[in-house]
Amino acid sequence: MPVPLRQSIRVGTYLARQRMARREKFPLIVELEPLFQCNLACSGCGKIQHPEHELRRRMPVEQALGAIEECGAPMVSIAGGEPLIHPEIDVIASELVKRRKFVYLCTNALLMERKLELFEPSPYFAWAVHIDGLRERHDASVEREGVFDKAVAAIRAAQDRGFRVTTNTTFFTHDTPQTVQQVLDFLNDELKVDQMMISPAYAYEKAPDQEHFLGVQQTRALFREAFADGRRKRWRLNHTPLFLDFLEGKADFECTAWGIPSYSLFGWQRPCYLMADGYATSYRELIETTDWDRYGRGRDPRCDNCMAHCGYEPTAVLATTRSVRQSLRAMVAR
Ligand code: SF4
Ligand code: SF4
Repeated sequence: MPVPLRQSIRVGTYLARQRMARREKFPLIVELEPLFQCNLACSGCGKIQHPEHELRRRMPVEQALGAIEECGAPMVSIAGGEPLIHPEIDVIASELVKRRKFVYLCTNALLMERKLELFEPSPYFAWAVHIDGLRERHDASVEREGVFDKAVAAIRAAQDRGFRVTTNTTFFTHDTPQTVQQVLDFLNDELKVDQMMISPAYAYEKAPDQEHFLGVQQTRALFREAFADGRRKRWRLNHTPLFLDFLEGKADFECTAWGIPSYSLFGWQRPCYLMADGYATSYRELIETTDWDRYGRGRDPRCDNCMAHCGYEPTAVLATTRSVRQSLRAMVAR
């Protein structure tokens, strides 16, 4: 099942309203981090290196809802840390669904099967399961044996209960075009998940493993070859054709960091989910007080190897909506 029609219409209407109001900056999807603690410790992760007292904190439900309401984004990706550790994560998700927000609950799936009964299938709710490769590759990436099998079992259990299930796969220098194809073929054809998200890993300064992040040229070469034999059209990728063009080097554009802002226990993170140059107390303050022109490739060295979807998918979405040809392409092809 691709993006449900209801979601495409809602997001399309939201974008049209922003354009009619001549609003220059607005959020498409919020990365909500209601905690930083995780039950894994992947060495490519830059999210879990906080002191113990910060890792123990949990965002109150009202705070999470207040932030999402204030910014007005139509979609919310709940991340972390591991969101299923949060004791009220089901309440946060169901309250957002009640407010007709499209919710993606990102998880490493270790707790997913056990907690499925806390959630209700809904066109507004989807799981987004972290799967970095097939069994050996994924377990190496998350540094624990058995995680791949648990994730696959949890995905099947969720599908049996009627949930929409998507996946999120991050690629590093250990990946080859063949490993990209193998994992996406498996998710698309065997597990038959609804949609798949892909991203080159961002080189977090705090991540213990600094050796395996892809550079721009490596990313382009990897995806150009992985996409080469027509698979890109067949895979149910949850990205615009323009973003996929960007990954394989057929298009280049600037980062739109304000399009997918990040809200955590510290507030609205400046400028994006990946870098923390301070925090604002509201989305409005974030927009008005951030010097957005300082960021992006060629402007900030920390951005030089970034091709992450949180910066570039909003650019691709906005370019798509401004072009009849790209809009048609997004509807019918990849
Ligand atoms: S599962 Fe996700 S949040 Fe947890 S350590 Fe791994 S990358 Fe970080
Ligand atoms: S390029 Fe954009 S999304 Fe990537 S790190 Fe820089 S500001 Fe963030």
